[in-house]
Amino acid sequence: MHSESVPTEAERHYQVLRRTLMDFLTELSERTGVSIDEGLTRLGVSSEIREAFLPGGELTGDRDMFEVISEPVVSAMKHFDKPKRSMEKVTIGSLIGDEAVTAECRPMSDGSSLVTMSYGMFTLINNMAPVAVEGMDWVAEASNPLAMLWRVSKAMRGMDPFNAQLSGAYLRFRLTMQRVFGSANWVRYGSTLDKRPTAMTVAICAFHFTIAHEIAHHILGHAPGAHAISPNASRASQQMETEADTLALQAIRRVHFSPQDALGDIPLMGAIVGIHAIQAVEDSCFIRRGFTHPPTAWRIANLYSNSRAGAEAGARSVLSKFNEAMELATEFSPGCIRGDLNILSRSSRIKTILPASGIAYVKSLDDIMCATPDRLESYLVKATEIWPILDLESGVREALNGNTKGALQAWGVRDRAVLEICDPERNLTFRRVFSEVLTSLGGRTDRSTDRKQKDSIEFIATGAASLATWALRRQ
Ligand SMILES: [Zn+2]
Repeated sequence: MHSESVPTEAERHYQVLRRTLMDFLTELSERTGVSIDEGLTRLGVSSEIREAFLPGGELTGDRDMFEVISEPVVSAMKHFDKPKRSMEKVTIGSLIGDEAVTAECRPMSDGSSLVTMSYGMFTLINNMAPVAVEGMDWVAEASNPLAMLWRVSKAMRGMDPFNAQLSGAYLRFRLTMQRVFGSANWVRYGSTLDKRPTAMTVAICAFHFTIAHEIAHHILGHAPGAHAISPNASRASQQMETEADTLALQAIRRVHFSPQDALGDIPLMGAIVGIHAIQAVEDSCFIRRGFTHPPTAWRIANLYSNSRAGAEAGARSVLSKFNEAMELATEFSPGCIRGDLNILSRSSRIKTILPASGIAYVKSLDDIMCATPDRLESYLVKATEIWPILDLESGVREALNGNTKGALQAWGVRDRAVLEICDPERNLTFRRVFSEVLTSLGGRTDRSTDRKQKDSIEFIATGAASLATWALRRQ
């Protein structure tokens, strides 16, 4: 940010939007009973960054971690010829607790733009990159001598080079947390030592690609396309997305020079991880979104066409196991096949500050969200028998009849929220429905601070939100 000069509209807007990291960390600490500093240590956060997180630290001040990490890509973007709008007027920042937005560019009326990424998206990229790198099939190809060595050393240590079940379960665990609580940062995937440098580079490329894509919208003078509804509007919007992807890949190739060696095309791989991260958040957290973005497969095909010959075959092979893990992780439909989350507590690769009961808790939330409507019905009816004050039954009947509006009203959700949730033209997340139902049901009980009671209300609100979203999808 350019603090010496008069702040742009984007800068002022960002100051209003920004929430402190402390909100999130305090919640984390309350939930786990572990101090903030201790929690960050157990999550593997370095002491330098830990200090920045703590009160009085750098990250609670004006300078945002994302702004710092984005610097190389911001200067790369300045090199593109005849930008329609100046790069000087771009403000970059992160948002905590706004998981509905993965990354976006908000144009302001004074010609400036605010480019933001959610903290959940940032940590998701950081954790998907090692999973993607661990899934590099091609490394295990016998024709590559280095890969052969890697394979032999793995076999000698009795390790499975890539476990799609574990990686899928891990990603699923994160997405379940993000879906319900708007935060996925309570668990971390430990990459094997020899893969860490590559995983780090891929993560930075993915992050830079995502930010560069948003800056590209600013440079190319794209109008915000968030509410495209008509087929024509959505086609124009998809065209803009493809242009932004192409420019973003060019930009990260400037930042991350990648010779076509044994490591393959790392910027391309990072871009693919970035697009998959957005898709993962949307598939798992979004119930509804306009048709503004082209499908992931289309976007990735466009990136291949902007890469050297052979890159496509390489990337496909590199990411094949990663895709397998992603499929296990992002499916939340009733009765879907899921990876076993219990394997997380047995794996040395998974680091979390949650106790074993925390993993079981998230597993139960996952079970509820993927239950069939008749199972949700009996669950909610039973909850009312135990806790008559919740009075859920008439709402359950409305939802089963496909009347989401009636169901939400019966559960006491505020009128304004009901209208927003049921408006097919508005973006919506599972978390939005969940938190509205939770607020209403929480208000009917005695607002006890007892952890067990809070957990029960969260389970019930998850069940009601699942039934409501099932009904919404059928409308
Ligand atoms: Zn875009």
